[in-house]
This record gives sequence, structure tokens and C-alpha cells, in this order.
Amino acid sequence: MAVTISGLSKTYPNGVKALKNVSLSIGNIMFGLLGPNGAGKSTLMRTVATLQDPDSGSVHVDDLDVLARKNEVRKILGYLPQEFGVYPKISAVDMLEHLAVMKGVTSPKERKEMVDALLQQTNLWEVRKKALSTFSGGMKQRFGIAQALLANPRLIIVDEPTAGLDPAERNRFLNLLSSIGREVTVILSTHIVADVRELCPRMAIIANGELLLEGAPADTLAALNGKIWSKVVSSDEELKALESQMHVISTHLIAGQHEVRVYSDSSPGDGFQPVDSELEDVYFFNLSQQANN
Ligand code: ADP
Repeated sequence: MAVTISGLSKTYPNGVKALKNVSLSIGNIMFGLLGPNGAGKSTLMRTVATLQDPDSGSVHVDDLDVLARKNEVRKILGYLPQEFGVYPKISAVDMLEHLAVMKGVTSPKERKEMVDALLQQTNLWEVRKKALSTFSGGMKQRFGIAQALLANPRLIIVDEPTAGLDPAERNRFLNLLSSIGREVTVILSTHIVADVRELCPRMAIIANGELLLEGAPADTLAALNGKIWSKVVSSDEELKALESQMHVISTHLIAGQHEVRVYSDSSPGDGFQPVDSELEDVYFFNLSQQANN
């Protein structure tokens, strides 16, 4: 199942240009859409999920025109929005049953088998009779995936699913996602670079409504090989001086000292060490390029 996004633009009534002529092809894999908060990820995800129309452009899922044939797209789509929001006092199993009916799974036997299998798959079997309102953040996200998987979707969109999860819950959630990604197309939107690094054979970076880069994480890393330099500086003054002289792509405060990472074809100066490029460097390099333009 391939998703083809062509020339999507969206300006909200308040004047915010959330998408600026975004084009992207997503094959039958787990695809990572990486970008800072406010980049336009949710706007893009909601558009592909048939919930919002763009001002211009088109989206196709295989040959299906998403904007023109929303109902058909919804039949093959599973969507976990950023704010799932609905956690009533009803139990997980009853809620999934109800949602399965809404999705058109009319046979009670088929419905029970589907719901039971999803509860097992998302590791919620033991807590299936507990009220959703009592679920932890990680359990809620796993329930969110269970409902997105109802009725065997062929395309799954998950919007910022790991924000707010603790490391163990995040791990469990990403493992679940990666087991799903083997069978269907998954679009994972996130501002967490590590989510994409761990899971996605292809990714795109989006910021300020613009697509900055599309490719395989390994290839985007290779493009920066030998060009990332690191130095630890202890004073804010030295950091400021470096920032004005060099292409600083990121700084991290480690035990009171700043680790500065610089993009440069050759050694940018005394005390800099060449370091292996990381996906964070790709991300911050592309954001800094956009900021400089
Ligand atoms: P992301 O998911 O990457 O955080 P969004 O798509 O939510 O980005 O938002 C992109 C930009 O559009 C932001 O500046 C946001 O404030 C703005 N925006 C999003 N939804 C609306 C809306 N319904 N009305 C006005 N502005 C919006």
C-alpha cells in the first residue's frame, strides 16, 4: 500500500501556513515523519486520515483519491490521533466491541475473535475488564493501537504516540508498532528522533510546514560522515563565540558543561574532535539549514 502526497498546502484561518507544498511518497513500510512541535505533522496526518481537507494538493492511497473517496479510505485506515482523549469508565473489551460494531464488523463471532486477538497482541488481555479511565499512559496508547487495528487496516497512522510515555512503556509500545509494521504501511509522526532511528527504514523531516529531507536514515547519516565535530566548552561566553563563528548544529548541557556539535568540511578549530554522525545531527543540521535560509 503506497501513499502518494502531492503538493499539499494548508493555511489555517488565523494565517498560519501549516503545510507548504509538501510532496512525499511512502511505500509499504514503517515510515517516520520527524519534526519539532508545530511543524505541521498533525495537519499532514489528519489530511491523509481524511479528517481535514487541504487548500490544494492531493493524496492517493494506491489508486484511491483520499480527498474524493473518504469513506473507502476509512475502511482501510487505522488512525491513532495525537489526542485520543476518550477514556470513559467503560472497559477496554466493551469499548473495542463497540468500536468494532461502528467499523462495520457485524458478525458477533468474528467481532469477539478480533477483539480478543487485539487485546492479546497489545498485551491488554489481563486488564481487558478494567475501565479505560484507570489506564496508565502506556496502556492508553496500546489501547489506541488496538482500536486503530480493528477491522484489519492496511494503512495505519500514529501521531506522536510516544510523547509522555516512560522508557519501559515507550519500549513496549515501539516493539508493538514494529511487529505491526511488518504487515502493513505505518506512518509514525514524532518529534522524538530515537523513535525513528529505532524503527523506520525511511523517514522525512518536516519543519515550518516544509519538507526538508526524505530518505533512509542510514543514507542521511552517511551524507554527514566526517563533517560533524564536537567540543566541550565550560563557559557561556565561549559557547556564544563559537555560535557566532561556526555552523553550530546543536548544544547539549552535560554535567554543567556544553557539548557543542559543529558542521564543517574540515576541523573547525582547536579542541574539536571528529565524531560519528548521529540521526540527531541530521535532524538538527536540516533544521539549522532551514533557519539560515
Ligand atoms: P505538529 O503536529 O507538527 O505539532 P500541527 O500540524 O499541529 O503541527 O500544527 C502546525 C501549525 O498549525 C502550528 O503552528 C499550529 O499552531 C497551527 N495549527 C494547527 N491546527 C490549527 C487550527 N485548527 N487552527 C489554527 N492553527 C492551527
